This record gives sequence, structure tokens and C-alpha cells, in this order.
Amino acid sequence: MALKRGAHLRPLQWLAGTSWVAALYIAAAFVAGLVHLASLQFGPAVLAVSVAAVFAIILLLRISFERQEAERREQQARVDEAEREAELNQKRFTAAFTHAAIGMAVARPDGTVLQVNPALCALLGVAADTVLKRRFCDSLHPDDAVQFRRRLQEALVPPARAFSTVLRLNSAGGAELWVSLHGSPFDDPQGLGTSLIYQMQDITSRLLAERRLHHIAHHDTLTGLANRHGFHERLALAVERTRVDSAERFAVLFMDLDRFKGVNDSFGHQAGNELLVATARRLREAARPDDLVARLGGDEFAVLLEHLPDFDTSVGQANRLLEALSQPLAIQGADLLPAASVGITFSDLGYRTVDEILRDADLAMYQAKADGRARVAIFDQSMHERAAQKLALENDLRGAIGSSQMALVYQPIFELQPQRLAGFEALLRWTHPSRGSVSPAVFVALAEESGQIEALTEWVMETAAGQLAKWQRDDPGMTVNINVSGRDLGRPGFIDRAGTVLARHALRPGSLVMEITETTLMSQLDVAVDAMRALRGKGIRFSIDDFGTGYSSLAYLSRLPIDTLKIDRAFVNAIDRGAQNLEIVRAVQQLGQALGRRVVAEGIETAEQLSVLRDMGVDAGQGYLLARPMPVDQASALITLERSEPP
Ligand code: C2E
Ligand code: MG
Ligand code: MG
Repeated sequence: MALKRGAHLRPLQWLAGTSWVAALYIAAAFVAGLVHLASLQFGPAVLAVSVAAVFAIILLLRISFERQEAERREQQARVDEAEREAELNQKRFTAAFTHAAIGMAVARPDGTVLQVNPALCALLGVAADTVLKRRFCDSLHPDDAVQFRRRLQEALVPPARAFSTVLRLNSAGGAELWVSLHGSPFDDPQGLGTSLIYQMQDITSRLLAERRLHHIAHHDTLTGLANRHGFHERLALAVERTRVDSAERFAVLFMDLDRFKGVNDSFGHQAGNELLVATARRLREAARPDDLVARLGGDEFAVLLEHLPDFDTSVGQANRLLEALSQPLAIQGADLLPAASVGITFSDLGYRTVDEILRDADLAMYQAKADGRARVAIFDQSMHERAAQKLALENDLRGAIGSSQMALVYQPIFELQPQRLAGFEALLRWTHPSRGSVSPAVFVALAEESGQIEALTEWVMETAAGQLAKWQRDDPGMTVNINVSGRDLGRPGFIDRAGTVLARHALRPGSLVMEITETTLMSQLDVAVDAMRALRGKGIRFSIDDFGTGYSSLAYLSRLPIDTLKIDRAFVNAIDRGAQNLEIVRAVQQLGQALGRRVVAEGIETAEQLSVLRDMGVDAGQGYLLARPMPVDQASALITLERSEPP
């Protein structure tokens, strides 16, 4: 056999390989001997039977050998096929690994990278050698490596599971590189333990876009501060924290700029924006690094102070913010003194929702405004009651306009020399069914806030004009003043409606006078001036009410279509109480003369005041000394009396 195969012939091997042939020969010789002896004993038939039996055995052996050989070949073919398939699989895997668009790496149980694909090398910006044979963790951003190891350990606790995570890779350029990583464990073919195959997909641009969107959604574009949404989210977390940990304290400051509208109206929106940006900057600079400063909208800001040692700290902080805010600010050539009113509320009130907190801080802020602005007010429960009362009053007012609860009273206005009735000022009165009479100072402001002033003014205009028409039948020279709000003048349709009222009652031109306070006039000069010109064209005259309180610019005053300046009653009332007040009244009188406007003094209460005003040459006057506001019948009687008495 060895010669046949061309192999070396070794004696021992030869012995081992051929001894069975010797054994076979010996056994065959032994059997042949037995057969020979048997044939001698029993005759030649035994020989024939034995030969037949041997042939049968040889035949059977041959068949058996052939079957075994066929099975062996079949087995071999199957093994070959499996090997070929495995080889193909290996090739396919290598191709997939090499050409995959996502980064892939195979790591040994000890973490050493065994294989890495070109996509991962491209992602990292390095050659394969740099990654191979090193630990996989070395390719991760240092800040994420710890978290990754923890994740890996968890996944490898038997039975090992696949895991996914998002982390940063160490890119060669140093740029931020975020991937979504999937790790799948498999048994090491060399039996060393659990190996891992990692797949990584670059999600940097998606993540950055998401982050940008998140930023836009949570920040105010003008100031860069957090917006209402962002503030709500952080505040909700703070509420949650106080619920878990009772030692946690926070305060919320609600801040509204004082007279922001005035800046917008007088200097334009650009200036308004500059003021908002400057406010944001000052607040951020004055706030502690952990405080969240937000712009909630318009001129409203909010600050969240967290982890407070005590609540007094936050009041001090609120005052510091106010002080930082109130430094002089140059905007478009003008020096402004910004100010804000601040309301504070604290977490110890046991808030459960963000809305409750903002509502209370807002209420406190309104209290700060009502207390005279530019100050801090701390929320207390009584504010709820006041707010509720205000709301109820606002609702009642809605039903009262045009009903019998509303009435006009008329206060006479007299020429001073000689003293003669010149006309009336119509003043609105509201008799509330349960509260009795409500001051116009209260309900007019309420009507302005709640958008009911239009209906109110319309009713006053219609009623006063109707009454004036009646009076004019007997006294054609009669005039009536009505008070209009600054809001009315800016309202579309107001001019037309005033024209309709004048025409319907056929009033004499110039006999209906609109009083507008100096403060509202100055705060919306642009709209007001156009409306006033148009109304004047329809025969309405204008009187500036409470003059002296609103710092009118003289340049404007001469150009405004006004007929009368009404000196505020605070100055008139105090004429006899200080030289300065007397000087103010004199100055207004001189100004009126110089501009060719009539001057009326309101609030005359004493005979001395009247005589000083007369001596000064003031045209007309109004006040409790001369006559109190009176119901319409008394006013009619006064007209009749005046007509019957010669001047
Ligand atoms: P006003 O237009 O300056 O009205 C004059 C106010 O001074 C009236 O108060 C009047 O009663 C009061 N008064 C008159 N003479 C004297 C006096 O000698 N001494 C004192 N201490 N007060 C005097 P009233 O009626 O309470 O009105 C307050 C304010 O409410 C008015 O100030 C006006 O701004 C507003 N108002 C009243 N009626 C209307 C209205 O129909 N529409 C609008 N928009 N506002 C109104
Ligand atoms: Mg008035
Ligand atoms: Mg007045």
C-alpha cells in the first residue's frame, strides 16, 4: 500500500498495516484445515458447502463495503458543500462589512478592535491601522466613554443582549460627531468569551437640526432669552423638585416694564425693541448664573430663582435686578430711565401647576403697578380676592352700559368775568345694584382695560348730544363737554359715528366739546392728532383735560387742533397753598393766551381761589364752589334761571 502511495515504508507501520493480513491468512488456513478435516470425515459434500458459504460471505462483505463507501462519499460531498457555503458566507460578510454605509467594528472580548470597516474609518477620519488593535473605547469622546462602559457591562451580564445608545465619537478634526450605536454580542469563535459587533450611524446633522429647532421653540428671537415655553418647562421641573424635596425653594419674579407703550409710541418700534434688548441684557448680567431669565412676551419678563437658602434672598435679588434695570439708557438720542414693576411669589405656597404660579406673580406685579410702579410687590392671598372682585365688577359693567344703572350728571362751567353759565361737563355715574355708586376713576379704567370703553363712550356721546339738542332749542349758545378716552381716538369708525351723532341731533357746530386728558393725548400723539383733525372738520371742539400733569411738548401744543386748556384741579386747589402752584397756573394762563386758546380752571373750591383766577384773567372755571355736578333736571332749571336773569 505504501509503495502504491509512494510513501516511506517504516517497519513498525508496515507491521501494524499488514499484521491483519497475516491474521487473516492464519485464520483462513485454520478454517481451510477444519474444512479439509471435515471433508475427510464426512465426504466431499462438506467441501462444496464450505466453498459456497465462503462465496456467500465474500459477496455479502463486498455489498456491505460498497454501501459503506457510498455513504462515506455522500458524507464527504455534504461536508464539501457546507465548507463551500461557509466560504461564500464569509465572502459575503466581508463584502457587506467592507461596503456598508454605516460604520462597523468587531471587538474581542477584551475590547480590542479586530476588524473595522472603511465607513467607520471615514467617519473617524483616520486610517484603519489607527483603530485596529486598540480598544474600542479609545475611539469614543472621553465624556461619553464612561457611560458607554456602564452600558456595555449591563448588556454583557448573561444572557448577553444587544443594546443601542447615542454617543459622540472622537473625530480626527475635533468636530462634534454624534452616532447612534448598536452593539450585538456573539460568542468568540476561539472560545475566548463574548465578542461584539458594533454598528454606528452618523446622526450629527439630524441632532444639530433638532437642537436648533428646540432652541427656536424655547427662546425669544429678539432678546435671545428663554421664551414663555422655555420658562414653563423649567418652572415645571422646579415645581416637581419641591414636591420631591421639601428643602427645595424657588421664587418667581414677574416683571413688566413701566410705560413701555409710551416709548413705542413716542420713539417708534425700533426704540422699543432696543429697550427690550437692553433690558434683557441687564437682567441677564444682574442675575445669578443659575437663574433663568425669560421674556414671556411684549414687555413682560420673568425670572426663576432656584435653590434659595431663604425667601428674603429673592426679594433682595429682585431689588438688585430692578436697580440694574433702572440705570439711564441712551436710545436713539434720547436718555430714558427704564423702570419695571415686579411681582414675586414663592414655592412655599404649595403650587401644583405652573399656571398658578404665573397667575399669582402676575397679580403681585399688578399690585406693584397700582402701588406706584417701579417697585416690588410680594404675592399674598388678598390679591386673589381683589382680582376676583375686579373681574366681577368688569362683568357687571358689561351689563350696566346703556341700562338705567348708568346716568350722566352735568357740572356747570362758568365764564369768570362776568360770571355766566357757558356750558356743562357731562360726567358719568354708575349706580351698582349692590355696591351703590362706583367712582368713574375706577370703572372708566376698568372699561379701558376690558375693551368696554368704546361702548361706554358711545353711550355718553349719544346721551349728552341728545340732551344738548334739547337745551339748544331754548339756548342756542349752550355747550356740553364729554370725556373721551385716548383709546377712542385710535378706533376705526369713531370719527364716522361722532359725525352721525352730530348730524342726527342737528347740533350747532362747535357746541359739542371732547375732553381728552393730557396724558393719554401725549401717549398716542400720532393717532390722536389725525383723529382730532378729522373730528374738528365735523364741528367738534377739543379741550385738554387735567392740563399740567402730562408734560406736553410746547411745539406740539401749538400745532394741535385744540380750543381749550383745562388746568388740572390739583394746581387750582393748591393756589393758596404755595407760590409754586400759583406760578404753574399763571404759566398755563399765559401759555393759553400766547397760543390763542381758552383756559378753564377746574376744581375751584374757595372764594380766594376764584378771585385769584379772575385777577389772573382765566377765561372760565368749574368747581364745587360754583356748582357741583347735578342731575339733568337741575341743569335744565339752571339754564332757565340763567336766561331769565340779565348778566
Ligand atoms: P375730569 O374729566 O377731570 O372730571 C372732573 C372731575 O372733578 C369730576 O370727578 C368732578 O366731579 C370733579 N370735580 C369737579 N369740581 C370739583 C371740585 O371743586 N373739587 C373736587 N375735588 N373735584 C371736583 P368725577 O365725576 O369723579 O370724574 C372723575 C374722572 O372720571 C373725570 O375727570 C374723567 O376723567 C373721568 N370720567 C367721568 N365721566 C367720564 C366719561 O363719561 N367718560 C370718560 N372717558 N371719562 C369720564
Ligand atoms: Mg373732564
Ligand atoms: Mg379734569
